[in-house]
Amino acid sequence: MVTGFLELLQRRYQDRLDDDATEFIGFAVDGARRMKQLINDLLAYSRIGTQERTTNSISCGGALSVALRNLEMAVSENGAQVTHGHLPRVAADTTQLTQLFQNLIGNAIKYRGPDPPRIHIEAVAADDELVFSVKDNGLGIEPQYHDRIFNVFERLHTRDEYPGTGIGLAICKKILDYHGGRIWLESEPGNGSTFFFSLPAYLADDADQPTASG
Ligand code: ADP
Repeated sequence: MVTGFLELLQRRYQDRLDDDATEFIGFAVDGARRMKQLINDLLAYSRIGTQERTTNSISCGGALSVALRNLEMAVSENGAQVTHGHLPRVAADTTQLTQLFQNLIGNAIKYRGPDPPRIHIEAVAADDELVFSVKDNGLGIEPQYHDRIFNVFERLHTRDEYPGTGIGLAICKKILDYHGGRIWLESEPGNGSTFFFSLPAYLADDADQPTASG
């Protein structure tokens, strides 16, 4: 309602408003839009883990495809290329796994460097966990921020440089807490970042893997 009526004011009274008034309305519209984004992001954050646990056997490749469809515009506008290795099936919450891929890949595109984004996703089975990696060729992150960026509202850039609420990675962390996993990163400023996340091995669902008996 706030943005709607401000925009109406702007449209209908344009010829009766002076430059200052038009500018002030512009600030108000912008603020209301950001407030809406912030509320949506906070709601998404607070909802994780509050609903009944819905873990199904899902294909990570499927969750990735949905995430990429949601990011279609960012991918094409930035000429991003996203590739991946073999991705397993896991017992997880489909919406949350999709959100996880979407936030990490969305960031890899948003915090891109001068070259078009190149993003590669891998999954490897370690001893007691499945470790996924999302590697980008973007701006990279200084080591002193590697823990902090997973906190709510923690941002390394100003709103003018890159829009955002600083909740995306906190959502990722909460999704992994919910699944008994972890999230961390390796990065060298100027040389891209690799975000890793793990899921406990017992969530691996290799029912679709060929068995010895065929
Ligand atoms: P937002 O993108 O809304 O700021 P996030 O929680 O998703 O919030 O990210 C927190 C901060 O971490 C970002 O502001 C950015 O500075 C940094 N960041 C996240 N992902 C990347 C990335 N792939 N490359 C470089 N910096 C990143």
